[in-house]
Amino acid sequence: MKKYDDIIVGSGISGLTLALLLGMNGHKVLLVEKNAHIGGSLRRFYSQGIPFDTGFHFTGGFYKNGIFQDMLMVLGIKDHIQPIYLSEEKNNQFIVGPEKTTYNLPTGYQRTIEKIKEYFPREEHAIDKYFAMVKSVCNQTAAMDLRKISMPTTLLDEDFLSLDDVLSQLTNNHRLKALLAGYSMCYGVKPQEISFANHSRICYSLYESVARVKDGGDAFIKAFQKCFKEFNIEIMCNRYITECADIQNNCVGRFALNTGEEISCDQCIFTIHPREVLKTLPKNHLSKAFVDRVSAFEPSAGFFSVYGVVESTNSADDFTPTITSLFPTTDINQLLDPGNSGVPAMVIMQNAEEVNGKSYHVLSALEVSFSEHVKAWKLSKTGNRPSDYIKYKQQHVSSIKERIIEKFPEYKDSFKIVDSASILTFRDYLNSPDGSAYGVKQKIGQFNLFGKLPLRNIYAAGQSSMLPGVVGAMMSSFVVGRTIVGKEKYDHFIAQRLCI
Ligand SMILES: Cc1cc2nc3c(=O)[nH]c(=O)nc-3n(C[C@H](O)[C@H](O)[C@H](O)COP(=O)(O)OP(=O)(O)OC[C@H]3O[C@@H](n4cnc5c(N)ncnc54)[C@H](O)[C@@H]3O)c2cc1C
Repeated sequence: MKKYDDIIVGSGISGLTLALLLGMNGHKVLLVEKNAHIGGSLRRFYSQGIPFDTGFHFTGGFYKNGIFQDMLMVLGIKDHIQPIYLSEEKNNQFIVGPEKTTYNLPTGYQRTIEKIKEYFPREEHAIDKYFAMVKSVCNQTAAMDLRKISMPTTLLDEDFLSLDDVLSQLTNNHRLKALLAGYSMCYGVKPQEISFANHSRICYSLYESVARVKDGGDAFIKAFQKCFKEFNIEIMCNRYITECADIQNNCVGRFALNTGEEISCDQCIFTIHPREVLKTLPKNHLSKAFVDRVSAFEPSAGFFSVYGVVESTNSADDFTPTITSLFPTTDINQLLDPGNSGVPAMVIMQNAEEVNGKSYHVLSALEVSFSEHVKAWKLSKTGNRPSDYIKYKQQHVSSIKERIIEKFPEYKDSFKIVDSASILTFRDYLNSPDGSAYGVKQKIGQFNLFGKLPLRNIYAAGQSSMLPGVVGAMMSSFVVGRTIVGKEKYDHFIAQRLCI
């Protein structure tokens, strides 16, 4: 039986980060992935030869001393990742309410504040207070600084206040509230349900800068693969754990894989959906309270996605990326409610891709969707869906196309749809139980699955642990990595990598 220091289950950004971090610290690591390829949500897919993003379109955090940039530096992949900034404000547009009022947001924390004050001159006080509170939460959160990153030990008052409560105390202006809650689409939880603290931790870096990455999530996968070669990191695809066996003193001694192989390790870290973790762990070693807690986690929002191209003769250099967020009502709680009977929120993204010397103007639209919308077909699988599901998909594709053309009438004859994906497509592609975009909800007062689990050598990290999105998922891996490597060794390693 082959023995490793660490087995990491799942090879999305969380698993890749943890594998490299532990490998760099001298550990013998095995990365186990259920799919045929590593990368999870990062992996792009190609349709008609054109690359489209699966679960990574843009991020915040590309700025000096920002946690994202620091994490990339520590992992030695910063130079492989080229940000493409959305630096002009017209490229990050929010269209809010039935009147379709347009707000363009610049990058830079202070510039964002000034711009929002220009739009809402009578709300200066509320705007200043909101941004001061966001900053204060981030300054007080140890996990936002790679040098001090650790399991959250103290919770802030803002961890117990909802975003909705804070906004309602600050202002009665519905459009301002909608604009300030707008980045909730980047975590998929209603303002009534997310804590102000977690909203702040996610949004701060997006106010500072919004960027795409050249070659999208594939750039990360390539960079990790290159670095893995320098360390003792093995990858096994098409594998998953079927049994945790030989349990002594609450420690799993042996893991059986679907292929019949058996392996052992000092630590096994799951970076997959909590419900999948529950399925894998031995039930007789888990308390009812633990099982009930994990079973009660609810999925965050997901997306129905349409992928297309605008046919034009321009070269890739002529396109700057844009993001347009459409909020048909100012009530963001309604837009993130599975029962919303009105027009859904949608985000339209445009970018340029160059493949084999050919340029593509890619346009993707993500409409908020929930597992409730596709529950009639939940037993079906990709490639074997019933005809009423196909009809559901066609109807959505055509209504999304109408909305795209309404926003960009100039694309009426040139926009061509290439592919589409429902929340079930994501579910099956990403091996997640419900296809939500950000794993389970980060709900106020809820303790998600993170760090050491009831079995002593089993840990949880990943987007459902601490904060969602690529940055949040990576942060969870650094926190768990620090626990496994040991505080002193980790601190020394970080100081060395960041040349502190
Ligand atoms: C449509 C969509 C758009 C998004 N857009 C953005 C965006 O623009 N910016 C952003 O920051 N975030 C975005 N996100 C969220 C972001 O993709 C995730 O938060 C992040 O990538 C999650 O990384 P992860 O490693 O935790 O999980 P995943 O990327 O889901 O990786 C988990 C991996 O585990 C594997 N796996 C599952 N079960 C098992 C098992 N039993 N055994 C072995 N392997 C298993 C899966 O196959 C997968 O490879 C988006 C998500 C979606 C779906």
